[in-house]
Amino acid sequence: MLIKPLLDAGTAARNMAEKEARYAPQEALIESNRCLFCFDAPCIMACPTGIDIPSFIKKIANGNPTGSARTILTANVLGASCARVCPTEVLCEGACVVLDLEGDPVKIGRLQRYATDYVFEHQIDVLQAPAKKNGKKVAILGAGPAGLGCAAELAQLGYDTTVFDKKKEGGGLNTYGIAYYKMPPKISLDEVKMIERLGVKFQYGVEIGKDLTMPELEKNYDAIFLALGLGGANRLGIPGEDLPEVVDALEFIEWIHTKPLHEVPVGRRVAVLGCGNTAIDAVSQSKRLGADVATIIYRRGEDDMPAYGFEYELAKNDGATFHFHTIPTEVLAENGHVKALRLAKTETRDGKVQIIPGSEWTEEFDLVLKAVGQEKQSSAFEKLFPSLKLDRKGRVEHNPETMATSVPKLFVGGDCANGGREVVNAVAEGKKAARGINALLTKQNVTGPVQPSRYGAKDGALGSGFNHPIRVPELLAAMNS
Ligand SMILES: Cc1cc2nc3c(=O)[nH]c(=O)nc-3n(C[C@H](O)[C@H](O)[C@H](O)COP(=O)(O)OP(=O)(O)OC[C@H]3O[C@@H](n4cnc5c(N)ncnc54)[C@H](O)[C@@H]3O)c2cc1C
Ligand code: SF4
Repeated sequence: MLIKPLLDAGTAARNMAEKEARYAPQEALIESNRCLFCFDAPCIMACPTGIDIPSFIKKIANGNPTGSARTILTANVLGASCARVCPTEVLCEGACVVLDLEGDPVKIGRLQRYATDYVFEHQIDVLQAPAKKNGKKVAILGAGPAGLGCAAELAQLGYDTTVFDKKKEGGGLNTYGIAYYKMPPKISLDEVKMIERLGVKFQYGVEIGKDLTMPELEKNYDAIFLALGLGGANRLGIPGEDLPEVVDALEFIEWIHTKPLHEVPVGRRVAVLGCGNTAIDAVSQSKRLGADVATIIYRRGEDDMPAYGFEYELAKNDGATFHFHTIPTEVLAENGHVKALRLAKTETRDGKVQIIPGSEWTEEFDLVLKAVGQEKQSSAFEKLFPSLKLDRKGRVEHNPETMATSVPKLFVGGDCANGGREVVNAVAEGKKAARGINALLTKQNVTGPVQPSRYGAKDGALGSGFNHPIRVPELLAAMNS
């Protein structure tokens, strides 16, 4: 590869520092007192893990950060990462009553970070597993947020739980994929250690299907939880795609998490193909690591992009540029290395993107990052579990209440079940699956918190966001109906 690192260690660290500073105790106190401690709190409904938000905020207001962290982590074992990586603008903070009243919501994410950082830094374990195990064994396939959510819940219910992952460390995309300025990998790795202290065993460097087969797992475990996430990047299908400087955006982001920041190679002129949240993370990090130009190339328009609006604003502030209605038709090379992209303008006719004839031009780039979606692991799953039912989008079919699949004793959660959502959805599904496994193996139900809600009043209580999370657009529709 011709690309190389561009910044010294100090500048790289400054550019990639967490985007928001942690609250000082006084700031946390002031912010927590902005909360109205709503009885019928929409923020809880909007949280897929159903954290009792007014309760944890009240504890901060009362000077009890440890109790606050206990409330958070009991509901969501990855509460420290979710405090940083959750799209709070469309979840809890988007639903906050104070947003309507004052135009500025209670900063739930930053308060959550304040409380969880407190217990991690003071090495206080607020979660505990029972001393006596129940004699049942569960195998968890994948150490990402879904696997961790399931493992932590099972450990607290008394199960002997082992997590298998092909990587060297746990956390999945939470460790290797999140934009560095949102969360450095240490936070996710500290959460893995906390789950280890609950008695969960981790076996790394184990590839399911190669190093460990299903008959072995089925023989040795009472139940299995499948949480292997998604596969690699989709292919572009254009000439030049296999040149060395055409890189999967996820691989580029993984370099950032596995090398010292000042040793991460970056192009001077970076093209990022796609306009989802992964593309935005890749373009922002390219700029922060010293690229002169970092450009998103997207075949549809600004209004169609899948990225969240606040992520788009962040990328623009970082100096990223955008070519909308543009498609790459070829990656051009010089001496075997990326030199430029051949681009064309597009228009959408009958819902289909078409190239406008004669609109092609060439633009110089030395690194091309592919962020056009991740493949599903369908063919791997079909080999592993021949009777496993997948839907037509390649997601594993499951019962949404218990996360049970079509294969007896096999449960699923996270990206491979939902097709790719957020960390918080993966943790919640892992926890739901743990309860589904527990119900199957012990015939006892663990019930979640129930939040009486006016939105559920018509048809009975909806439960907390854990049972039926409601996103801001849905919430607005419910309020207006
Ligand atoms: C670039 C990027 C940025 C993101 N940013 C955000 C964000 O800011 N906020 C947010 O909330 N969400 C974000 N997400 C989404 C979030 O990371 C995922 O929804 C979440 O990690 C899904 O968790 P999971 O456990 O289902 O899968 P993963 O996190 O993918 O974990 C799957 C695990 O399975 C392991 N595995 C896979 N195959 C095998 C095998 N054959 N054998 C053994 N182990 C295997 C993997 O090594 C991995 O550890 C982002 C996603 C991407 C791609
Ligand atoms: S909606 Fe806002 S004000 Fe009401 S409890 Fe939640 S955080 Fe507090």
